[in-house]
Amino acid sequence: MIVDLRSDTVTRPTEVMRAAIARAEVGDDVFGDDPTVLALQARVAALTGMEAALFMASGTQSNLCGMLAHCQRGDEYIVGQLAHTYRYEGGGAAVLGSIQPQPLTQDAQGQMALADIAAAIKPDDPHFARTRLLCLENTWNGQVMPHPYLAEATALARQHGLACHLDGARVFNAAAADAGPGGDVFAALQRITAYFDSVSVCFSKGLGAPVGSMLCGSKDLISRAQRVRKMVGGGMRQVGLLAAAADHALDHHVMRLHDDHALAAQLAEGLREIPGLRVRSAATNIVFVDVADGRGADLLAHLKARGIWATGLIGLRFVTHLGVDREGISRTLAAVREFFAEPGRAAAPAAAAGPY
Ligand SMILES: *Cc1c(COP(=O)(O)O)cnc(C)c1O
Repeated sequence: MIVDLRSDTVTRPTEVMRAAIARAEVGDDVFGDDPTVLALQARVAALTGMEAALFMASGTQSNLCGMLAHCQRGDEYIVGQLAHTYRYEGGGAAVLGSIQPQPLTQDAQGQMALADIAAAIKPDDPHFARTRLLCLENTWNGQVMPHPYLAEATALARQHGLACHLDGARVFNAAAADAGPGGDVFAALQRITAYFDSVSVCFSKGLGAPVGSMLCGSKDLISRAQRVRKMVGGGMRQVGLLAAAADHALDHHVMRLHDDHALAAQLAEGLREIPGLRVRSAATNIVFVDVADGRGADLLAHLKARGIWATGLIGLRFVTHLGVDREGISRTLAAVREFFAEPGRAAAPAAAAGPY
């Protein structure tokens, strides 16, 4: 059995989710008559406290349609240097919308300094792009944005007439962490989304659906986004099959996010006891680890040979999800211990290069 800790995108639909997909009533969603999609859109709009919502093929498409619905050519959005909406979406807002990003440095928690945001907002002057939008991300690399930060950053943006968009690919993980074990995740979700004009949520990560995201916002914004979605080829037809999976995930896979967080905490606790590596961050369902030069790649290969998969793009990353259990985490810890037990392997890792 493979322990696949590369991402929470690797989750496969469960048997009961497949049954829900098979049962789904469908129509043609471009004509607006797929009942399963319409019901899901209404449900997620209500869950996020927004007027309307629109089903999307991916989180990237959802963020793109959101940014293009907020901004015109020659407008600008303020965004973290390491945020998904700047760094990991192929430059889509610039390529397809002629929207200029204004990326800002983030601290180790993913936060841009309020003073930097204020300084980046351009005055109304023909020299400058028009600053229109602030994009935040929650969770960021698994870390939960604290409420005071969300409140202050969005209030600052509003004072200057900017709209606020949340890339909430993993916002259900943030809500689960805010709510605490046994707490009301859906109530916590609304406390987060309340700061924003638009929110993108993903069903295909920790929620375990095979495909799908949702952009939520005002009716006006969503009707503009619908036009963009059509332009980028995102008008899908009998998409109720996918909406049924997302609906099932909202019923059955939200409260269980606590289990993923507990497994990630168990993994981090075990890794902290192993000399030779350093846990850089461990929050919600994602654990980042620094290993000294070269040995990160060796450790990944060692794990791979034992059926344990992780990624090493930015430090070693381990992500828990519904396809991972305690046994998988124990096997992972045993394999990491075995690696560092070999002579000469346990030298302390160099400090991480910041900012991260
Ligand atoms: C995964 C992710 C997205 C969207 O990814 P897709 O693969 O396009 O669905 C957006 N933002 C963040 C922070 C993500 O982690």
